[in-house]
Amino acid sequence: MKNFKTLCIHPFDNNQRDENAATVAVHPTTAYNYLDQEELQYPGFYSTYNQKRLAKIIAKLEEGNWGLAFSSGMAAISTAILSMVKQHEHVIFSRDLYGGTWRFAEEELPKRTISFDYANNSFDSFKELIRPNTKLIYLETPSNPLLRLVPLKEIAAFARKHGIITVVDNTFSSPINQRPLSLGIDIVVHSGTKYLGGHNDLPYGALASGNDTLEASVLSTAKMYGGSLSPYQCYLAERSLKTLAIRIQQQNQNALKIAEYLNGHTLVDQVYYPGLTSHHDHQLALDQMDGFGGMLSFELNMEADRIYKFLKSLSLIRPALSLGGVESLICSPAETSHKSMLARDRLELGIKDNLLRLSVGIEDQHDLIADLKLAMSQAVAD
Ligand SMILES: *Cc1c(COP(=O)(O)O)cnc(C)c1O
Repeated sequence: MKNFKTLCIHPFDNNQRDENAATVAVHPTTAYNYLDQEELQYPGFYSTYNQKRLAKIIAKLEEGNWGLAFSSGMAAISTAILSMVKQHEHVIFSRDLYGGTWRFAEEELPKRTISFDYANNSFDSFKELIRPNTKLIYLETPSNPLLRLVPLKEIAAFARKHGIITVVDNTFSSPINQRPLSLGIDIVVHSGTKYLGGHNDLPYGALASGNDTLEASVLSTAKMYGGSLSPYQCYLAERSLKTLAIRIQQQNQNALKIAEYLNGHTLVDQVYYPGLTSHHDHQLALDQMDGFGGMLSFELNMEADRIYKFLKSLSLIRPALSLGGVESLICSPAETSHKSMLARDRLELGIKDNLLRLSVGIEDQHDLIADLKLAMSQAVAD
């Protein structure tokens, strides 16, 4: 297999080049001559030339056999879940879930009489929750915002033995840092809006799998629920993937340096980053990840008004919600992504009011650290 840096640039062996061009052409069409098509796979999903190409590249990066591109991460996630479970079946989710996925479970699954439970991050917790009608185990690792990990290999093997399908939301890692399919997971989903797109400008989603028996039902569900991605967006997504490996490499390096800096700071209570030896799941990260990622969280030892002042004092790092892009972004989960939760439930998840989540970009690490340093000193100055 090619090195990831090369694979991102040259995903196909005989790179199809229209008009001898170095890059792919955009084919803005929703209609194809069906008489000349070898396979009429899934009409209705507007599986354009560019969509199929993009999906194939992501499948290759994830070490899968097939994939699909969607108009958002939630389209990929809802399709993955709804194509795998039906009425009266049961799902086990990892407890720390992306807010949209959590709401999807809470609001949409009961309407379909699908039951579910949340497991802690340990293997035993999943094992204990299994029922005869458990059909799907859905995991997020590392999780948002505390970067907790779930043991993928162990859970995948256990699920396979019991005929349970496994899905991993690999958004936080990208295939550069973690490839769940190679650890036995059935399906990987992505919010391409984050690392795969990487520039905070492109909403999309993706799904990849190495399990060919699942393809037909995923395609069928995708078609019924819509969520196809336009050829123009596919083009941008494919272009962004060319820099994925080098972006992630830089983000991994920056995040580790920043985590180490914050870890020793007197104004910081706690740093959550899988690359720190003090992190709860550091050993597991070494076992199942190739890089620790560009996401980290930390608790500032300050009152709320000072934390607000800290955020206002940052000049490079932007207080904004998304993540995974080249620009560094910071947010308070208690004020944003987890605001709709009861304070008590938030605390139970370990999300304190003084917790900040940082999505580290590709800026120079010294500049980022200087920005944090200055903002912290301004926050406590009077
Ligand atoms: C953002 C995000 C999603 C949802 O993706 P959208 O593209 O915003 O629909 C799902 N999972 C994780 C981990 C995310 O960060």
